[in-house]
Amino acid sequence: MNIEQLKEKKTPFYHYDLHLLDQTLALAKEESEQYGYHIHYALKANVNEKVLGKMNASGFGADCVSGNEVLKAIESNFSKDQIVFAGVGKSDEEINLALDHDIFCFNCESIQEIEVIDQLAKAKNTTARIALRINPNVNANTHKYITTGLEENKFGINMWELDFIVERLQELTNIDLIGIHFHIGSQITDLTPFKNLCTRVNELNTWFDERNIRLKHLNLGGGLGIDYVNPQDNPIPNFKDYFGLFNQFLKPFKGQEIHFELGRSLVGNCGSLYSKVLYVKKGIKTNFAIIDAGMTELIRPALYQAVHKIENVSNTDTYTEYYDVVGPICESSDCFGKKISLPITRRGDLIKIHSAGAYGEVMISAYNLRDKPGVYYTN
Ligand SMILES: *Cc1c(COP(=O)(O)O)cnc(C)c1O
Repeated sequence: MNIEQLKEKKTPFYHYDLHLLDQTLALAKEESEQYGYHIHYALKANVNEKVLGKMNASGFGADCVSGNEVLKAIESNFSKDQIVFAGVGKSDEEINLALDHDIFCFNCESIQEIEVIDQLAKAKNTTARIALRINPNVNANTHKYITTGLEENKFGINMWELDFIVERLQELTNIDLIGIHFHIGSQITDLTPFKNLCTRVNELNTWFDERNIRLKHLNLGGGLGIDYVNPQDNPIPNFKDYFGLFNQFLKPFKGQEIHFELGRSLVGNCGSLYSKVLYVKKGIKTNFAIIDAGMTELIRPALYQAVHKIENVSNTDTYTEYYDVVGPICESSDCFGKKISLPITRRGDLIKIHSAGAYGEVMISAYNLRDKPGVYYTN
Protein backbone atom coordinates (compact mmCIF):
# COMPACT_ATOMS: atom_id res chain seq x y z
CA MET A 1 0.00 0.00 0.00
CA ASN A 2 1.59 3.31 -1.06
CA ILE A 3 1.27 6.73 0.52
CA GLU A 4 -1.42 7.91 -1.92
CA GLN A 5 -3.56 4.90 -0.99
CA LEU A 6 -2.97 5.53 2.71
CA LYS A 7 -4.12 9.16 2.30
CA GLU A 8 -7.53 7.85 1.22
CA LYS A 9 -8.09 5.85 4.41
CA LYS A 10 -10.17 6.97 7.36
CA THR A 11 -7.86 8.14 10.14
CA PRO A 12 -6.51 7.32 12.62
CA PHE A 13 -5.22 3.90 11.56
CA TYR A 14 -2.32 1.53 12.16
CA HIS A 15 -0.13 0.41 9.31
CA TYR A 16 2.28 -2.53 9.34
CA ASP A 17 5.20 -2.97 6.97
CA LEU A 18 5.23 -6.76 6.69
CA HIS A 19 8.28 -6.77 4.46
CA LEU A 20 10.31 -5.01 7.17
CA LEU A 21 8.88 -7.46 9.72
CA ASP A 22 10.07 -10.38 7.58
CA GLN A 23 13.54 -8.88 7.32
CA THR A 24 13.68 -8.21 11.07
CA LEU A 25 12.59 -11.73 11.99
CA ALA A 26 14.98 -13.31 9.50
CA LEU A 27 17.93 -11.44 11.01
CA ALA A 28 16.91 -12.23 14.61
CA LYS A 29 16.58 -15.88 13.65
CA GLU A 30 19.90 -16.02 11.87
CA GLU A 31 21.85 -14.28 14.63
CA SER A 32 20.30 -16.36 17.43
CA GLU A 33 20.38 -19.72 15.69
CA GLN A 34 24.13 -19.62 15.11
CA TYR A 35 24.52 -20.00 18.90
CA GLY A 36 21.60 -22.41 19.26
CA TYR A 37 19.55 -19.83 21.22
CA HIS A 38 15.76 -20.15 21.53
CA ILE A 39 13.53 -17.09 21.04
CA HIS A 40 10.10 -16.70 22.59
CA TYR A 41 8.10 -13.81 21.17
CA ALA A 42 6.61 -11.65 23.96
CA LEU A 43 2.97 -11.52 22.87
CA LYS A 44 2.18 -8.49 24.96
CA ALA A 45 4.06 -6.26 22.48
CA ASN A 46 1.62 -6.96 19.66
CA VAL A 47 -1.08 -9.61 19.13
CA ASN A 48 -2.12 -8.62 15.63
CA GLU A 49 -3.01 -11.84 13.75
CA LYS A 50 -0.59 -11.26 10.88
CA VAL A 51 2.22 -10.40 13.27
CA LEU A 52 1.56 -13.55 15.32
CA GLY A 53 1.45 -15.62 12.13
CA LYS A 54 4.91 -14.39 11.13
CA MET A 55 6.38 -14.96 14.61
CA ASN A 56 5.04 -18.48 14.60
CA ALA A 57 6.25 -19.14 11.05
CA SER A 58 9.73 -18.08 12.16
CA GLY A 59 9.75 -20.96 14.62
CA PHE A 60 9.71 -18.75 17.71
CA GLY A 61 8.02 -19.82 20.91
CA ALA A 62 5.67 -17.61 22.91
CA ASP A 63 6.20 -15.60 26.08
CA CYS A 64 2.84 -14.93 27.74
CA VAL A 65 1.87 -12.79 30.71
CA SER A 66 -1.80 -13.77 31.07
CA GLY A 67 -4.03 -16.80 30.67
CA ASN A 68 -5.63 -15.21 27.62
CA GLU A 69 -2.21 -14.76 26.04
CA VAL A 70 -1.52 -18.45 26.64
CA LEU A 71 -4.81 -19.26 24.90
CA LYS A 72 -4.03 -16.85 22.07
CA ALA A 73 -0.62 -18.47 21.57
CA ILE A 74 -2.20 -21.92 21.39
CA GLU A 75 -4.92 -20.70 18.99
CA SER A 76 -2.21 -19.13 16.85
CA ASN A 77 -0.49 -22.52 16.57
CA PHE A 78 2.51 -21.86 18.78
CA SER A 79 3.75 -25.18 20.06
CA LYS A 80 2.73 -25.83 23.70
CA ASP A 81 6.22 -26.94 24.57
CA GLN A 82 7.52 -23.53 23.51
CA ILE A 83 5.15 -21.47 25.67
CA VAL A 84 6.39 -19.75 28.83
CA PHE A 85 4.11 -17.95 31.26
CA ALA A 86 5.36 -15.04 33.40
CA GLY A 87 3.64 -12.48 35.59
CA VAL A 88 3.61 -11.44 39.26
CA GLY A 89 -0.10 -12.08 39.70
CA LYS A 90 -1.17 -15.30 38.02
CA SER A 91 -4.72 -16.21 39.08
CA ASP A 92 -5.74 -19.78 39.97
CA GLU A 93 -7.83 -19.89 36.79
CA GLU A 94 -4.85 -18.88 34.66
CA ILE A 95 -2.56 -21.41 36.35
CA ASN A 96 -5.11 -24.19 35.83
CA LEU A 97 -5.43 -23.28 32.18
CA ALA A 98 -1.67 -23.41 31.68
CA LEU A 99 -1.48 -26.75 33.54
CA ASP A 100 -4.26 -28.19 31.37
CA HIS A 101 -2.31 -27.23 28.26
CA ASP A 102 0.93 -28.59 29.75
CA ILE A 103 2.95 -25.53 28.70
CA PHE A 104 6.74 -25.62 28.69
CA CYS A 105 7.37 -23.52 31.79
CA PHE A 106 5.91 -21.19 34.42
CA ASN A 107 8.28 -18.32 35.16
CA CYS A 108 7.56 -17.86 38.87
CA GLU A 109 7.91 -14.61 40.73
CA SER A 110 7.38 -15.58 44.41
CA ILE A 111 7.35 -18.58 46.76
CA GLN A 112 3.68 -17.86 47.43
CA GLU A 113 2.93 -18.36 43.74
CA ILE A 114 5.01 -21.56 43.57
CA GLU A 115 3.06 -23.02 46.53
CA VAL A 116 -0.25 -22.32 44.78
CA ILE A 117 1.01 -23.89 41.54
CA ASP A 118 2.13 -26.95 43.52
CA GLN A 119 -1.33 -27.35 45.08
CA LEU A 120 -3.16 -26.87 41.79
CA ALA A 121 -0.82 -29.30 40.01
CA LYS A 122 -1.34 -31.85 42.79
CA ALA A 123 -5.11 -31.59 42.40
CA LYS A 124 -4.66 -32.45 38.73
CA ASN A 125 -2.18 -35.20 39.48
CA THR A 126 0.43 -33.51 37.34
CA THR A 127 3.77 -31.75 37.72
CA ALA A 128 4.45 -28.14 36.80
CA ARG A 129 7.76 -27.21 35.22
CA ILE A 130 8.95 -23.92 36.62
CA ALA A 131 11.79 -21.43 36.35
CA LEU A 132 12.56 -18.95 39.11
CA ARG A 133 12.34 -15.37 37.93
CA ILE A 134 15.22 -13.88 39.86
CA ASN A 135 15.62 -10.17 40.37
CA PRO A 136 19.31 -9.69 39.54
CA ASN A 137 19.47 -6.11 40.84
CA VAL A 138 20.97 -4.93 37.56
CA ASN A 139 20.10 -1.41 36.46
CA ALA A 140 18.77 -1.32 32.90
CA ASN A 141 19.29 2.46 32.63
CA THR A 142 15.93 2.90 30.96
CA HIS A 143 12.80 4.84 31.95
CA LYS A 144 11.80 4.05 35.54
CA TYR A 145 8.40 2.70 34.46
CA ILE A 146 10.03 0.07 32.25
CA THR A 147 12.84 -0.91 34.64
CA THR A 148 12.05 -4.27 36.18
CA GLY A 149 15.28 -5.79 37.51
CA LEU A 150 15.97 -3.72 40.63
CA GLU A 151 15.16 -4.86 44.16
CA GLU A 152 12.70 -1.99 44.50
CA ASN A 153 10.62 -3.37 41.58
CA LYS A 154 7.65 -5.66 42.15
CA PHE A 155 9.00 -8.31 39.79
CA GLY A 156 10.87 -11.47 40.58
CA ILE A 157 12.45 -13.21 43.55
CA ASN A 158 15.26 -11.42 45.35
CA MET A 159 18.61 -13.16 45.57
CA TRP A 160 18.58 -13.14 49.38
CA GLU A 161 15.42 -15.27 49.32
CA LEU A 162 17.00 -18.08 47.30
CA ASP A 163 18.32 -20.19 50.21
CA PHE A 164 14.87 -20.39 51.71
CA ILE A 165 13.16 -21.04 48.39
CA VAL A 166 15.48 -23.85 47.38
CA GLU A 167 14.92 -25.51 50.76
CA ARG A 168 11.16 -25.14 50.47
CA LEU A 169 11.17 -26.51 46.91
CA GLN A 170 12.38 -29.88 48.22
CA GLU A 171 9.10 -30.26 50.08
CA LEU A 172 6.92 -29.44 47.06
CA THR A 173 6.10 -32.70 45.30
CA ASN A 174 4.46 -31.37 42.14
CA ILE A 175 7.03 -28.81 41.09
CA ASP A 176 9.94 -29.47 38.75
CA LEU A 177 12.54 -26.67 38.80
CA ILE A 178 14.04 -26.56 35.29
CA GLY A 179 15.52 -23.10 34.90
CA ILE A 180 16.17 -19.56 36.02
CA HIS A 181 14.67 -16.51 34.37
CA PHE A 182 15.54 -12.82 34.22
CA HIS A 183 14.03 -9.75 32.60
CA ILE A 184 15.65 -6.47 33.56
CA GLY A 185 13.58 -3.95 31.61
CA SER A 186 12.69 -2.70 28.20
CA GLN A 187 13.98 -0.31 25.49
CA ILE A 188 17.60 -0.97 26.50
CA THR A 189 19.84 0.52 23.81
CA ASP A 190 23.23 0.47 25.53
CA LEU A 191 24.27 -3.18 25.86
CA THR A 192 26.22 -2.70 29.14
CA PRO A 193 23.28 -3.75 31.38
CA PHE A 194 23.10 -7.05 29.46
CA LYS A 195 26.80 -7.61 30.09
CA ASN A 196 26.20 -7.00 33.81
CA LEU A 197 23.28 -9.40 33.64
CA CYS A 198 25.55 -12.13 32.21
CA THR A 199 27.93 -11.75 35.16
CA ARG A 200 25.07 -12.13 37.62
CA VAL A 201 23.55 -15.08 35.77
CA ASN A 202 26.92 -16.87 35.72
CA GLU A 203 27.21 -16.42 39.51
CA LEU A 204 23.70 -17.69 40.11
CA ASN A 205 24.11 -20.60 37.71
CA THR A 206 27.18 -21.67 39.72
CA TRP A 207 25.27 -21.17 42.99
CA PHE A 208 22.61 -23.68 41.88
CA ASP A 209 25.22 -26.09 40.55
CA GLU A 210 27.03 -26.06 43.90
CA ARG A 211 23.79 -27.15 45.50
CA ASN A 212 23.46 -30.01 43.04
CA ILE A 213 20.53 -28.41 41.27
CA ARG A 214 20.90 -29.02 37.56
CA LEU A 215 19.17 -26.29 35.61
CA LYS A 216 18.19 -27.26 32.08
CA HIS A 217 17.84 -23.71 30.86
CA LEU A 218 18.71 -20.09 31.43
CA ASN A 219 16.16 -17.53 30.24
CA LEU A 220 17.57 -14.04 29.73
CA GLY A 221 14.26 -12.31 28.96
CA GLY A 222 13.98 -9.46 26.48
CA GLY A 223 14.45 -5.74 26.55
CA LEU A 224 16.57 -4.96 23.49
CA GLY A 225 15.65 -1.43 22.36
CA ILE A 226 14.89 0.04 18.97
CA ASP A 227 15.85 3.38 17.41
CA TYR A 228 12.85 5.65 18.01
CA VAL A 229 14.75 8.79 16.96
CA ASN A 230 16.01 7.68 13.55
CA PRO A 231 13.86 4.66 12.68
CA GLN A 232 14.41 5.14 8.96
CA ASP A 233 18.19 4.91 9.32
CA ASN A 234 18.07 1.98 11.75
CA PRO A 235 14.87 0.06 11.10
CA ILE A 236 16.31 -3.25 12.38
CA PRO A 237 17.98 -3.57 15.81
CA ASN A 238 21.54 -4.79 16.09
CA PHE A 239 20.81 -8.45 16.81
CA LYS A 240 24.35 -9.38 15.85
CA ASP A 241 25.89 -7.42 18.75
CA TYR A 242 23.09 -8.37 21.13
CA PHE A 243 23.34 -12.14 20.73
CA GLY A 244 27.11 -11.88 20.22
CA LEU A 245 27.43 -10.27 23.64
CA PHE A 246 25.63 -13.15 25.37
CA ASN A 247 27.75 -15.63 23.44
CA GLN A 248 30.85 -13.82 24.71
CA PHE A 249 29.91 -13.28 28.35
CA LEU A 250 27.43 -15.95 29.33
CA LYS A 251 29.01 -19.16 30.60
CA PRO A 252 26.37 -21.89 30.51
CA PHE A 253 27.20 -25.42 31.59
CA LYS A 254 27.34 -28.10 28.95
CA GLY A 255 23.89 -28.93 27.63
CA GLN A 256 22.11 -25.95 29.15
CA GLU A 257 19.65 -24.27 26.78
CA ILE A 258 19.59 -20.50 26.44
CA HIS A 259 16.25 -18.76 25.96
CA PHE A 260 15.29 -15.17 25.16
CA GLU A 261 11.99 -13.32 25.20
CA LEU A 262 11.99 -10.54 22.64
CA GLY A 263 9.04 -8.23 22.09
CA ARG A 264 9.72 -4.67 21.05
CA SER A 265 12.88 -5.38 19.04
CA LEU A 266 11.03 -7.82 16.76
CA VAL A 267 8.06 -5.65 15.86
CA GLY A 268 8.48 -2.06 17.11
CA ASN A 269 9.71 -0.42 13.94
CA CYS A 270 7.36 -2.37 11.66
CA GLY A 271 4.23 -0.45 12.67
CA SER A 272 3.14 3.19 12.36
CA LEU A 273 0.14 5.17 13.46
CA TYR A 274 -1.33 7.55 10.86
CA SER A 275 -3.50 10.49 11.80
CA LYS A 276 -4.88 13.65 10.16
CA VAL A 277 -4.46 17.20 11.41
CA LEU A 278 -7.78 18.58 12.61
CA TYR A 279 -6.74 22.06 13.64
CA VAL A 280 -3.64 24.19 13.94
CA LYS A 281 -3.96 26.50 16.91
CA LYS A 282 -1.68 29.35 17.96
CA GLY A 283 -0.09 28.84 21.38
CA ILE A 284 2.03 31.18 23.48
CA LYS A 285 5.36 29.51 22.70
CA THR A 286 4.59 27.13 19.85
CA ASN A 287 1.67 26.22 17.65
CA PHE A 288 -0.45 23.23 18.45
CA ALA A 289 -1.08 20.70 15.72
CA ILE A 290 -4.20 18.95 16.99
CA ILE A 291 -4.48 15.54 15.33
CA ASP A 292 -7.27 12.96 15.30
CA ALA A 293 -5.22 10.26 17.08
CA GLY A 294 -4.68 10.45 20.81
CA MET A 295 -3.37 8.53 23.79
CA THR A 296 -6.30 6.15 23.25
CA GLU A 297 -4.59 4.89 20.08
CA LEU A 298 -0.96 5.17 21.26
CA ILE A 299 -0.42 5.64 24.99
CA ARG A 300 3.38 5.36 25.17
CA PRO A 301 4.16 9.11 25.20
CA ALA A 302 1.53 9.76 27.90
CA LEU A 303 2.44 6.64 29.90
CA TYR A 304 6.22 6.82 29.94
CA GLN A 305 7.28 9.95 28.16
CA ALA A 306 8.21 7.92 25.11
CA VAL A 307 9.63 9.63 22.04
CA HIS A 308 8.27 8.79 18.59
CA LYS A 309 9.43 10.31 15.33
CA ILE A 310 6.60 12.42 13.89
CA GLU A 311 6.44 13.22 10.18
CA ASN A 312 4.08 15.24 8.00
CA VAL A 313 3.78 13.05 4.91
CA SER A 314 1.48 15.50 3.07
CA ASN A 315 3.91 18.39 3.04
CA THR A 316 7.60 17.72 2.62
CA ASP A 317 8.76 21.35 2.22
CA THR A 318 12.11 22.15 3.76
CA TYR A 319 10.84 25.28 5.52
CA THR A 320 9.79 24.19 8.99
CA GLU A 321 8.13 25.51 12.12
CA TYR A 322 7.74 24.13 15.64
CA TYR A 323 4.56 22.41 16.74
CA ASP A 324 3.33 20.67 19.84
CA VAL A 325 1.62 17.64 18.33
CA VAL A 326 -1.35 16.78 20.54
CA GLY A 327 -4.39 14.51 20.48
CA PRO A 328 -8.08 15.25 21.07
CA ILE A 329 -8.39 13.45 24.43
CA CYS A 330 -9.30 15.45 27.53
CA GLU A 331 -5.96 14.92 29.31
CA SER A 332 -2.96 17.24 29.26
CA SER A 333 -0.64 14.24 28.91
CA ASP A 334 -2.32 13.50 25.56
CA CYS A 335 0.66 14.86 23.66
CA PHE A 336 2.82 13.04 21.09
CA GLY A 337 5.67 15.51 21.15
CA LYS A 338 6.58 19.03 22.15
CA LYS A 339 8.43 21.47 19.90
CA ILE A 340 8.48 19.13 16.92
CA SER A 341 9.94 20.61 13.77
CA LEU A 342 7.53 20.06 10.85
CA PRO A 343 6.97 21.67 7.45
CA ILE A 344 4.10 24.20 7.51
CA THR A 345 1.26 22.03 8.72
CA ARG A 346 -2.37 22.52 7.77
CA ARG A 347 -5.75 21.01 8.45
CA GLY A 348 -6.08 17.71 6.58
CA ASP A 349 -2.36 16.88 6.43
CA LEU A 350 -1.50 13.23 7.07
CA ILE A 351 0.84 12.69 10.03
CA LYS A 352 2.90 9.52 10.45
CA ILE A 353 3.93 8.52 13.97
CA HIS A 354 6.77 6.07 13.51
CA SER A 355 7.78 2.99 15.52
CA ALA A 356 4.33 2.20 16.89
CA GLY A 357 4.53 -1.54 16.25
CA ALA A 358 5.21 -2.51 19.87
CA TYR A 359 2.99 -1.56 22.82
CA GLY A 360 0.82 0.44 20.40
CA GLU A 361 -2.22 -1.35 19.01
CA VAL A 362 -2.33 -3.68 22.06
CA MET A 363 -2.83 -0.75 24.43
CA ILE A 364 -5.73 0.89 22.56
CA SER A 365 -8.48 1.97 24.94
CA ALA A 366 -12.06 3.11 24.51
CA TYR A 367 -11.61 6.08 26.86
CA ASN A 368 -13.83 8.97 25.72
CA LEU A 369 -15.81 6.26 23.88
CA ARG A 370 -13.33 6.37 21.04
CA ASP A 371 -13.74 4.21 17.93
CA LYS A 372 -11.21 1.48 17.20
CA PRO A 373 -8.70 2.54 14.54
CA GLY A 374 -8.41 0.59 11.28
CA VAL A 375 -5.39 -1.57 10.42
CA TYR A 376 -3.67 -1.79 7.01
CA TYR A 377 -0.67 -3.68 5.71
CA THR A 378 2.02 -3.40 3.08
CA ASN A 379 3.53 -6.69 2.01
C1 LIG B 1 7.57 -7.51 28.41
C2 LIG B 1 8.39 -8.70 28.66
C3 LIG B 1 9.30 -9.12 27.69
C4 LIG B 1 9.54 -8.40 26.39
O1 LIG B 1 10.16 -7.16 26.58
P1 LIG B 1 10.66 -6.30 25.34
O2 LIG B 1 11.28 -5.12 25.95
O3 LIG B 1 9.45 -5.93 24.54
O4 LIG B 1 11.62 -7.13 24.56
C5 LIG B 1 10.03 -10.26 27.97
N1 LIG B 1 9.86 -10.95 29.13
C6 LIG B 1 8.98 -10.57 30.07
C7 LIG B 1 8.85 -11.38 31.30
C8 LIG B 1 8.22 -9.44 29.87
O5 LIG B 1 7.38 -9.05 30.83
